[in-house]
Amino acid sequence: GLATITKQVDSVCPFCGVGCQLRLHVGPAKESEPEGAERVHYVTGLDGPANHGRLCVKGRYGFDYIHHAKRLTTPLVRRAGVKKDPADIDRVKSGELPLEALFRPASWDEALDLAAGGLKAIRDEALAAGLHGRAIPLAGFGSAKGSNEEAYLFQKLVRQGFATNNVDHCTRLCHASSVAALLEGVGSGAVSNPVADVEKAELIFLIGANPVVNHPVAATWIKNAVDRGAKLVIADPRRNALSRRAAWHLAFRPDTDVALLNGLLHVIIAEGLVDAGFIAERVRGYEALKASVAESTPERMAEICGIDADTIRAVARAFATSKGSMILWGMGVSQHVHGTDNARGLIALSMITGQIGRPGTGLHPLRGQNNVQGASDAGLIPMMLPNYQRVAEAGVRASFEQLWGEGLLPRLEAEPGLTVVEIMHAASEGKIRGIYVEGENPAMSDPDLNHARAALASLQHLVVQDIFATETAILADVILPASAHAEKWGSYTNTDRLIQPGRPATQPPGDARQDLWSIEQIGRRLGLPWAYWTAADGNGHAAAEAPVARVYEEMRQAMEPLAGVPWSRLVRENAVMTPAAREDAPGEAIVFIDRFPTDDGRAHLVPTRFAAGPEARDADYPLVLTTGRVLEHWHTGAMTRHASMLEAISPAPLVQMHPLDAAPLGIVDGATVRMATRHGAVEAIAVLTPEVQRGQVFMAFAYWEAAANRLTGDALDAVAKIPGFKVTAVQVQPA
Ligand code: SF4
Repeated sequence: GLATITKQVDSVCPFCGVGCQLRLHVGPAKESEPEGAERVHYVTGLDGPANHGRLCVKGRYGFDYIHHAKRLTTPLVRRAGVKKDPADIDRVKSGELPLEALFRPASWDEALDLAAGGLKAIRDEALAAGLHGRAIPLAGFGSAKGSNEEAYLFQKLVRQGFATNNVDHCTRLCHASSVAALLEGVGSGAVSNPVADVEKAELIFLIGANPVVNHPVAATWIKNAVDRGAKLVIADPRRNALSRRAAWHLAFRPDTDVALLNGLLHVIIAEGLVDAGFIAERVRGYEALKASVAESTPERMAEICGIDADTIRAVARAFATSKGSMILWGMGVSQHVHGTDNARGLIALSMITGQIGRPGTGLHPLRGQNNVQGASDAGLIPMMLPNYQRVAEAGVRASFEQLWGEGLLPRLEAEPGLTVVEIMHAASEGKIRGIYVEGENPAMSDPDLNHARAALASLQHLVVQDIFATETAILADVILPASAHAEKWGSYTNTDRLIQPGRPATQPPGDARQDLWSIEQIGRRLGLPWAYWTAADGNGHAAAEAPVARVYEEMRQAMEPLAGVPWSRLVRENAVMTPAAREDAPGEAIVFIDRFPTDDGRAHLVPTRFAAGPEARDADYPLVLTTGRVLEHWHTGAMTRHASMLEAISPAPLVQMHPLDAAPLGIVDGATVRMATRHGAVEAIAVLTPEVQRGQVFMAFAYWEAAANRLTGDALDAVAKIPGFKVTAVQVQPA
């Protein structure tokens, strides 16, 4: 029968960066659950600025993971004498090995003492040996799934309590290269215009992104814009559901973005289609860019990228001459060993044509996680304190020392910390010995998983805080059961820079606790005099607004874009665009209107040159593997694979392959195939489709049964340290 709804809670979707507002409808739990327990029975869309009532399948039907029987309900400690073995991951996930064989339940006091004690011992030994900076053998992985307050407190914990800047999160695997190029080019890592601005664009340039799958509600704004007459240009080696609406789908060869973009820049400059006034007033480095692309004729670039010269010319002319051209991009641009160069090319395209600073123009890297923008803003990155203030600058450190007071050491560390993949490399060399992972799953998300899992297993001390026994948690010493999104207060910043509150609808199961409380408890045990969570706020199980507001207000003092957004305004208005300088005025949806936040107010262009990546194709590995996502599953699957409806729709790992590549190998649709690269091998089910081009295969990285990152390599972009997930040489054979 119909559920009795006793409570309705307005919140925000926990999945993607679009930031849809939703209403959780709560009522009594099922008879089999503890008396008095509540559950979310269904979810509806609210009229938020990013979604106007719409939700995709994940937001609408992907909520019941929060009530899954496998939620962690008590702290767990590794049993004495049980070694860490990466092979246990598959054994536990398949049900062959019970989690209880590896871990025993523990009280919170015991688990927190063990968790913090192990970190403290490593820290104290290192400091006694005179180590400092990135050489401190400790690191922290925070989460872009957590709130701004959790991200802020976590990075503060690592910097003040671990005495190092070795703190990072999955932005490193996602848009680190876009952010590096944007900070260098325009002085800000965030988007210039919100997605909904596509409605005012005359031309939409969508490159390396599949929003129908990864930002579904945002994709509906693109569809609407095209239906109203905007011209859509898609640049992507793979076709997607928007392709049939596109004026051009440029299916260039994988990994040749730089050649395609340099070809476009060449045409615009050679044909005099630049915005000379804008360049003179607002751009630096134009002459060097012009010289650098002088030889990049469409004919030459066509040979590399596979798009014919006439098409490159036509697209360049359309982009430069439209009244408003807006660029949106995704991981297809950023996840390359030359991801920073790819983004530099997009910035140059926008700048030399003056397609920025007005409605329907600009640069929009579509942010993946619900709070990857906010977590990065809050300083969850190794080289920058909150609001992108560099740890290397003495004045910046001094202002945070004043705000924070003394940590373990009287001074903050000046040396930027290690990034995600560097931390894994250091772990495998014994240079990182302890890691605190809060809500991330590097044992699925990192490249070259066989090595990454071995590195995690080799750690002296691994603490994992999560809502499920993730692949990473299976290798932990201590597991702290955490709160799901719908069980806590927190603020989240979407891809548009819109900050919105999440509100608690139900209680965490068993004795799981609030993440913010657990981070603070670890901090206190490391010697930090923190008192965000007072006795009046409870024991950390039930959600409490006051400690979250305290952390937020402290964070706000360090973050100028939040100057006009006190916690009370956020909760009252439900969504505030940032930057917001004043409390009584809306924030700025469009930025860079008359200057860029660089030292001289101008955009800085950086020329790029095409270079082949490290994953050479040969007779043994003749195809290109690209990894990504499917509509129903979110990233490593920790949440969505426990969401009954999503798992029912998309239960098995599939690999897309072109029929003409499959035929000579004797592979038919639905066959199980073995995929092998220079890094590892997995088996998946073949789906034959012309959506991928010949020579390319595609699979999602959400499935532990066929963990796609067993196949990827860990070569990094030199600037942003992002791995090249999008291109791995692979062989595919019938299994
Ligand atoms: Fe959630 Fe993104 Fe879907 Fe909106 S589009 S409902 S934010 S997953």
